[in-house]
Amino acid sequence: MLDIKITRTTAPKAKPQDESKLGFGKIFSDHMFLMDYTEGEGWHDARIVPYGPWEMDPATTVFHYAQEIFEGMKAYRTAEGKIQLFRPDCNANRYNDSADRLGMPPIPPEDFVQAVKAIVDVDRDWVPHSDGASLYIRPFCIATDVGLGVHAAKHYRFAIICSPSGAYYAEGLDPVRIYVEDEYIRAAPGLTGFTKCGGNYAASIKAGELAEERGFSQVLWLDGVEKKYVEEVGSMNIMFKIDGKIYTAACTGTVLPGVTRRSIIELLKDWGYEVIEGKLAIADVMKAADEGKLEEVFGTGTAAVVSPVKELDWEGKVAHISGGKIGELTQKLYDTLTGIQWGKLPDTKGWIVPVEEQ
Ligand SMILES: *Cc1c(COP(=O)(O)O)cnc(C)c1O
Repeated sequence: MLDIKITRTTAPKAKPQDESKLGFGKIFSDHMFLMDYTEGEGWHDARIVPYGPWEMDPATTVFHYAQEIFEGMKAYRTAEGKIQLFRPDCNANRYNDSADRLGMPPIPPEDFVQAVKAIVDVDRDWVPHSDGASLYIRPFCIATDVGLGVHAAKHYRFAIICSPSGAYYAEGLDPVRIYVEDEYIRAAPGLTGFTKCGGNYAASIKAGELAEERGFSQVLWLDGVEKKYVEEVGSMNIMFKIDGKIYTAACTGTVLPGVTRRSIIELLKDWGYEVIEGKLAIADVMKAADEGKLEEVFGTGTAAVVSPVKELDWEGKVAHISGGKIGELTQKLYDTLTGIQWGKLPDTKGWIVPVEEQ
C-alpha cells in the first residue's frame, strides 16, 4: 500500500469544451503521479502533483540507452457518471514483465493499480463525457542515473500522466489498408517484442512512415527470423477469421500480449469459436483470400479496441477483405467490449474495476 501525498494545483486548466476535437494524447489533465526508486531504498515519495515538466541532467541514462517502459490503459465514464477501469491488473502484471526484461525494478501490482486509481480519482473531472471518448492513462518509467556507463541504473522515476482522448472512430469503424512489411522487422526471439518499451517503437517508426507515404495506415509485421509468419499490425495484435476459425500469433516472446487480445479470445471462446494461437504464414492468408475463405481481419488494442482491415498488400499481391466493410464478428466484438467498458453491458467476467471517489 502506497502512502500517496497529494498536492493539488492552484491553477486548474480549462477543460476542453468540444470533446469531438480531442484527438489522441494531445492534451493532459491537471495532475500527474510520480514515484522515485533508489537502489537499496526501493520505491519512495509516491506523490500526485500538478502536471508539468521536470528538469533532467543531459547525461541521464534514459536519453542515451533507452531504459524506458510504459503502459497504456483507459478510464471510462458510465452513463450514471461512474468512473471505471478495464482489467488494470493485467497492465500491472505486464508492466512488471517489461520491467524485468529491461532490468528495471518491479512495482507490486496492487501498488500500480492503487497509483492509477489515485491519479484518475484526483483528475476524475477530466474523464470525457461523450460517447466513445475516454481518459487515456500512460504509466511509464525511466532510468534516471546520471552518467554514460552502460549498466542497469540505480535510480528510476515512475510517472502516470492522463490525456482525455476522443472516440477513435469519429466516423464509425473505417476499415484500413495494411502493408505487409517484408524488409524491416519489429521483434526477434530473445529480444524485447513482448515488452512495452519505447525502443520497440523507435525501431518501428521508419517502416510505418514509408507505409503511410504509400497510402497505407499501418504495417503488418512478420516474424523476425523467416519473415514468413504474421505477428502484429502497427501497435496492435492482429486476428484473422478464415473459414470460420480465428487465428492469431501466439505470445511466445515476439508478440506483445495485449489485454484486448486476451479479452477478445475469451469472448470468442465463450461464443463457441475455435481460436488458434500459433504460426500463420502470410502466404496462407493470401491463399485463403484467393479461395474466398479470408472472412475478416482486424487489429486489437486499447486505443482502437478493434480496427477492421480491408486490404493486405504483400510482395505485389493484394488481398481484399469483407468487401471493404467491417465484418460481422469484428462489429460484434467491438460492441461487446465497448459495451462492457462503458458500462452499457453487464460485466459478467469481473473485468471492471471502479474508481471510487475519495
Ligand atoms: C500496447 C500494444 C498492443 C495492444 O495491447 P493492449 O493491451 O490490447 O492495448 C499490441 N501490440 C503492441 C506492439 C503494443 O505496444
